[in-house]
Amino acid sequence: MDLRPAYPRLQDGIYLKQLERPCVYDTRTDELYELSPEAMVFLSHCDGAHTISNLQPEEHFLAYCLEEGILELLSRAEPTVVRVGINELPSLRYLMVEVTERCNLRCRHCYLGEAGEKDMDPDLLLRLLDDLDDIGGLRLMITGGEPVLYPHFQCLNRALAGRTFRPVLITNGTLIDRSLLSTLNFREIQFSLDGLEEGHDFLRGKGSFRRTLEAVRETLVSGKEVSVATVLHRKNMHELEKLGRFLRDMGVHSWTLEYPVAMGRMAANQGLMPKIEEAAPFFSLEWGSGPHAGESGYACGAHLAAVDVSGRLMKCGYYRQLSGGSVSGGLRSAWRALPKMRLEGVCASCTEREGCGGGCRFRAELMDGPGGRDLLMCARLGMLS
Ligand code: SF4
Ligand code: SF4
Repeated sequence: MDLRPAYPRLQDGIYLKQLERPCVYDTRTDELYELSPEAMVFLSHCDGAHTISNLQPEEHFLAYCLEEGILELLSRAEPTVVRVGINELPSLRYLMVEVTERCNLRCRHCYLGEAGEKDMDPDLLLRLLDDLDDIGGLRLMITGGEPVLYPHFQCLNRALAGRTFRPVLITNGTLIDRSLLSTLNFREIQFSLDGLEEGHDFLRGKGSFRRTLEAVRETLVSGKEVSVATVLHRKNMHELEKLGRFLRDMGVHSWTLEYPVAMGRMAANQGLMPKIEEAAPFFSLEWGSGPHAGESGYACGAHLAAVDVSGRLMKCGYYRQLSGGSVSGGLRSAWRALPKMRLEGVCASCTEREGCGGGCRFRAELMDGPGGRDLLMCARLGMLS
């Protein structure tokens, strides 16, 4: 038997979070593990200063944590501080931040409409990062416009190192190259790729598909995780099966499809929107999950919020009027003040409500009026009558 002391320590990138339940989160893989109260107490003492014999963990649990890469065992004491984020009820897990209105493309379907030139105050943004650490957020999604055009992008990037959440960059990819990639502290890059060459370039401009694809390839080579989001439209539907196979073969981690919303430039291009009955079957092709799910009686986006360039907390990029006020007084108080949406109307009594959650409430309101159904989800679940 080996009698030398062993000091368990949380691995780099692993953090404890008090959400609806105690959890441990792996920012490297985006895995969230629920914990018993006893397991939470044990892991909160895994600071590289206590020995196994002091802590006396349950043997199977210790083995599981070592196997999952949650813990490492050190042969001598190397103390660190275990950080625990204490969240709210419901918990704020996913924060999308629009850092700039600038964009280098002029996509036909952009729901934000014409690009502006406003940028987020960098001091406010840095405070927001600290607040998200403090509240125990899981994912920070930096978006725009095109976020690489944010004049303080490198300042933001430097401030992301060592955070307790997973930074994700949402980009059109046309400005990402090897040299920029080598500096990035983002764990995941999400590219907008709206089809193969024909479908993508139709929406985003000639040559943009090749530039984005090159960036996807370079990002995969760099070892960062890549996800792709695709807006479904009339000119790319015939390409989607092939695109999905292509992305999977390349090693893309998740692929999500989005149905266009008739806002911004898309309001003038509604002829590009497929009928929902035509679009619904394609959603069986996607893989991976997004941050928009509902939970425990709350409608979609139960754990999601967005911040616009002026620092207003909003339910999401679509529900821009549903606000908790400015985050300048603190993210926590803005999240508390943000009205939470519950499932109401037809969806509240639907037999599919558990699996569906009422879909996207913004789309539901646009298509079927206040309290209405998300007809795309109804079609996907065979509930359209
Ligand atoms: S299937 Fe349709 S009616 Fe049922 S919960 Fe989903 S959106 Fe609402
Ligand atoms: S309204 Fe739509 S975009 Fe907004 S949180 Fe819900 S699902 Fe997401």
